[in-house]
Amino acid sequence: MADQAQPVTMDQIVSLSRRRGFVFPSSEIYGGLGSTYDYGHYGVLTKNNIRSLWFRAMVQERDDIVALDSAIILNPRVWEASGHVAGFTDPLVDCRTCKLRFRADQLEFARCGRKPSKRPGETPDCDLTEPRQFNLMFETHVGALKDESSAAYLRPETAQGIFVNFKNVAQLARRKPPFGIAQVGKSFRNEITPGNFLFRVREFEQMEMEFFVPPAEAAGWHEYWLDQRLSWHRSLGLREENLRLREHDETERSHYSSATSDIEYLYPIGWQELEGVANRGDYDLTQHTEHSGTKLEWIDPDGNRYTPHVIEPAVSIERIFVALLCDAYHEEVVGERERVVLRLHPAVAPVKAAILPLIPRDEGMATRARALYEELRRYHLVEHDEGGQIGRRYRRQDEIGTPWAFTIDEQTLQDETVTVRDRDSLAQERLPIGAVRGWLDDALQQEWSSPQAP
Ligand code: ATP
Repeated sequence: MADQAQPVTMDQIVSLSRRRGFVFPSSEIYGGLGSTYDYGHYGVLTKNNIRSLWFRAMVQERDDIVALDSAIILNPRVWEASGHVAGFTDPLVDCRTCKLRFRADQLEFARCGRKPSKRPGETPDCDLTEPRQFNLMFETHVGALKDESSAAYLRPETAQGIFVNFKNVAQLARRKPPFGIAQVGKSFRNEITPGNFLFRVREFEQMEMEFFVPPAEAAGWHEYWLDQRLSWHRSLGLREENLRLREHDETERSHYSSATSDIEYLYPIGWQELEGVANRGDYDLTQHTEHSGTKLEWIDPDGNRYTPHVIEPAVSIERIFVALLCDAYHEEVVGERERVVLRLHPAVAPVKAAILPLIPRDEGMATRARALYEELRRYHLVEHDEGGQIGRRYRRQDEIGTPWAFTIDEQTLQDETVTVRDRDSLAQERLPIGAVRGWLDDALQQEWSSPQAP
């Protein structure tokens, strides 16, 4: 292993995730299920951090956004009104020779089932059907009967749960446009060509916010939210050179959108959508007004009525998760020793600090380490590790991205100080054991930017 000069690969990310128990294939003992994953301990902690940082920026630190948690299975008429039953489709082609299916609009990125593998349609044996539209919604049935009248869908986006609650929330939340409703929850899409680890999965957790504005202000708010969201991704430590904005042209836009820009990240598979920021106009509220007969509009104090326009920033935890791991992953040699280090922003890192007795058999060290751990864990997610040589314990923490390690050693027994080791610089300093908690609180409040080389 030399210092990583090459860009990180998805294989490196998958392997680290598995090795350290962030993410593994779901129901693996039965052979797994295509592009479905389960999260282990560190994966859960990292996802919790991403979710709560989003919630903090979108709800907690603002006056104008409230939270909602709507059901996953809604009345199926919601999806007729929203246009998903008719229009939430991808064009699909089948190959009669290799029996694989591909997205017709992404053939250039696909590989056919023949060896050597080529782009579908590239070998003389390829026999592709004409494209046909394939609906991405998962169908299910509600209740004991399994017929057409009981058919329902797992939501493919959380947004519609917000639109159908517009009237409830607008009345109860005592907000007037411009105001927003934020929701985090699972969405499901029967993707034709899932893959690239968590980048495109069939079950994912979306974080969406619908911002309702007077129609004349929509374009300005669209710009505003693009800017806000891009800054938020930077605040997670994602490197500037790996983020960019891209405006959709007319052919790409969803059925509801009058303007969409993507925040893209330079994944190992190239520049891809991390988050979409759409100007949905009045499409959704108008559609639900027409189909439900309930007027979803705003009446201002002068009695003027209008249907608010909607700006929607929408992102999944999965796409952020992969971007963060790719951005942070680094292999290097330090003083003849190899290490893999995840240089995660401390706010995102699953474990904030490790507490390590240098010699776990030494009762004085073990007792002090345990006491420090029990004090710190009341305030932060920290880990106590007494298994194996100290070097191996440091490397384990480096791989899960723990920013600091506090080590209790011989000197602690004499002067009640500990060393603190910095994950990125590897610098070590000594602190009084009683000052550790304040030091960690402070360190977690500091501005942070990635030390990764461009
Ligand atoms: P794509 O073009 O990549 O299929 P999309 O334009 O269909 O994405 P949206 O409908 O705009 O995606 O969904 C909003 C966000 O939800 C996306 O920006 C992405 O972060 C996330 N997302 C969508 N589909 C998936 C998926 N299959 N797996 C993981 N995240 C997803």
